[in-house]
This record gives sequence, C-alpha cells and structure tokens, in this order.
Amino acid sequence: MQRDLFTEDHEAFRELARDFVEKEVVPHYPDWEKGGRMPREVFQQMGALGMLGMAIPEEYGGAGMPDYRYNVVLQEEAARALVTLSTVRTQLEVILPYFLHYANDEQRKRWFPGLAAGELLTAVAMTEPGTGSDLAGMRTTAVRDGDDWILNGAKTFITGGMQADLVIVVARTSTDPDNRRKGLTLFVVEDGMEGFTRGRELEKMGCKVQDTAELSFVDVRVPAANVLGEQDEAFGYLGHNLPQERLTVAVGSVSQARSAIAAAIDYTKDRKAFGTPVASFQNTKFELAACSTEVEAAQAMLDRAVALHVDGELSAADAARVKLFCTEMQQRVVDRCLQLFGGYGYMMEYPIARLYTDARVARIYAGTSEVMKVIIAKSLGL
Ligand SMILES: Cc1cc2nc3c(=O)[nH]c(=O)nc-3n(C[C@H](O)[C@H](O)[C@H](O)COP(=O)(O)OP(=O)(O)OC[C@H]3O[C@@H](n4cnc5c(N)ncnc54)[C@H](O)[C@@H]3O)c2cc1C
Repeated sequence: MQRDLFTEDHEAFRELARDFVEKEVVPHYPDWEKGGRMPREVFQQMGALGMLGMAIPEEYGGAGMPDYRYNVVLQEEAARALVTLSTVRTQLEVILPYFLHYANDEQRKRWFPGLAAGELLTAVAMTEPGTGSDLAGMRTTAVRDGDDWILNGAKTFITGGMQADLVIVVARTSTDPDNRRKGLTLFVVEDGMEGFTRGRELEKMGCKVQDTAELSFVDVRVPAANVLGEQDEAFGYLGHNLPQERLTVAVGSVSQARSAIAAAIDYTKDRKAFGTPVASFQNTKFELAACSTEVEAAQAMLDRAVALHVDGELSAADAARVKLFCTEMQQRVVDRCLQLFGGYGYMMEYPIARLYTDARVARIYAGTSEVMKVIIAKSLGL
C-alpha cells in the first residue's frame, strides 16, 4: 500500500543507505556472521557518510536532524538486502537517545563527536542475570565515594557489550520503601575502567552479526561526571526511551517479514515440484497473499505509530501494541514463508533460515510479548 511517511529528504537518504548496504555490507555479511560482529571500521565508514550523526547537533559533528524516520529508512534498506546492521541499530535507536536527552554540556563535548564519527561504540546494560522484565528489581549498586561512585554488579544479554567503548549501566543508588522505581541512576562506564570486565560472549540461535555479552563490575570507580541525567531518576528515563526501542524492533519486524515474502516469491518461482514451479500451486499463492496482507496491516499500524512518535505523541501503551502486533506477525509470516522453501528453508545458507532465527528474539527483547500485554492491559484500566 502507498505510504505517506517519507519526504524527498528521506528518499535521498534511502538512496545513500541502499548503496552503502549493497556495496559495504552485503559482500562481507557472511564473514561478519562467522566473526560474530561487524568490524569497527564499518561504524567509522558510516560515521564518515553522516549516517550515525543524523540526530546529533551540528556543533558536535552531526547533521542536527533528529528525525526518527531516517532510522526507519536505514533498517528498511538493510532488511531489503536480507541483512541487518547489527549493533548500529542499537546504537542509533536505543542508546543515542539517552545521550541526546540526558547528557550535559561537558558530556556532549566529550562524547558526541566520537558518536557521530563512529569512533565510539556503545551498549546499554539494564538486564541482570536475576532480573530482566522487572527492571525495578535490579541489584547492581552504586555508592557515592567523594567525587566518584563505586559500582558493583553483573549484567547479561548486553548487545554490543564486547565492543563497546561506553556502556550506559543502570544501577541502584538509593531505595525508597514506598516506591521501588525510585533510586535508579544511569552511569557511563568507559572501556578500561578498573574492575569493569567482559565475561562470556553468549552464543545465540540468531542475530549472529551482533555480539551479546555478560558484563561484570567489581568496585568500578566511576567519576560523578559520568552520571547521565539526574541521580535516582533513571526509571523515568527508561520509561521515556523504551517506546522508541520497541518501535525500532517493530520496524525491523515488518521490514524483515516483507523481505521474507520477496525471498519466498523468488524461490518458489524457480523451484519446481511435480514438474511445475512451486509458485504455481494455489497453496503457495494463498499463503503469500495472506502473508502480504498481514505485512500491509502491520505496516499501516507501524507507520501511524512512527508519525505519532515523530510528533512526540506515541504513548507507551501504543508502542507496546505496535511491538506486540508486528513481532508476532513477523513470526507467523517468516515461518509460513520458510515452509515454502521445503528442506532448503532449514539450511543456514538460505537467507530465509537466518530471517527465521533472527526473528525469534523480537518477541523477547525490549520487553517480552507478555510484558507488552501487561502494559496494554494497564492502559485499559485492568
Ligand atoms: C539477543 C538479546 C539481546 C539483548 N540485548 C539487551 C541489551 O542490549 N541490554 C539489556 O539491558 N538487555 C538486553 N536483552 C535482555 C532482554 O531485554 C530481556 O531478556 C527481556 O527483557 C526479558 O527478560 P528476562 O530474559 O530476564 O526474562 P524474564 O523476565 O525472566 O521472563 C521470563 C518469562 O516470564 C514472563 N514474564 C515476566 N514478567 C511477566 C508478567 N508480569 N506477566 C506475565 N509474564 C511475565 C516473560 O514474558 C517471559 O516469558 C537482550 C536479550 C536478548 C535475548
């Protein structure tokens, strides 16, 4: 269906993104999957092309255009080429907003140029071995000591954690018996700080081009100058930024489901069974027609949410609805498309297999489908 989300500027950016993905990502992707990450130089290349600093103010080397639709375009172009942009997506869409919203002037000067140039890689560490969905239950602590904070705790499932130069760590700095959401603070932990170590790189079923790490903090001395935003207020910051994180997952889900259909159409036109192309069976046509309808329905919902988000009006409950619907749709569509590949669909050399294994986590990270339902139910007064 025709979309009215983008302007000429976005379409010009799309050309740049498409060209970059085709030339600089697709040919190297299998190697990156084997290596478990995208090389740092690619971030620098993207930085040089201005792709990482769209939202960063011009005085720090960015383009000064904080328009979420550029992020949408980048993800769509990656999905179109049957790849993902690894931790770039997390950096741009999940982590950068924390810096943009909460960094003070001194921190902006210190970090923004490196973020725009792709010299500084980042991660955000909320989840702990003992708690994920229940963020207020986290156990990592920071205790004030003169001009520093002493940080202790462990985080897990951290995207980009192995490569990150800056990790935004959420830690408890005080407890309020009447309000367990109060008392969390954001700390920017830098590579090389004593006591900060990276543990195992976790082996995942999909998303092979991005590393996922365990991080440990033992008496890490973090200067007070590395506190992001106000002390004790981080739960509110997470609440503010999680809707965009969820939207981001939904953008990936819809664009990857769309790519699964395109891949299935190509394959079934070529593959023959009983002497005729698989695409000629009515079942194939009906399956792909149904999948296409699901994708268009999700796209309409998603585009509406993106427009609301650009206007600063996307509610937490609506972001949850969009993530729930789009990620579950992706799972259904990719599974049905894979079925049309027969045995080849199960082989990792076919991109549909990667789309399938990559898709599974969309219903889990950035808040599970069940947590999305909790948020939606609350908005219904339940
Ligand atoms: C590949 C990957 C990358 C990730 N990247 C990051 C990252 O960069 N940074 C980061 O901080 N985290 C990251 N995460 C963590 C992710 O956000 C959590 O895994 C997720 O929020 C779920 O938390 P959990 O794993 O502790 O599950 P749990 O909270 O233990 O949930 C277990 C089950 O209980 C259900 N459940 C929980 N609460 C409720 C409830 N109230 N009602 C009904 N059911 C409930 C859940 O839906 C789930 O089915 C990543 C995870 C993965 C897999």
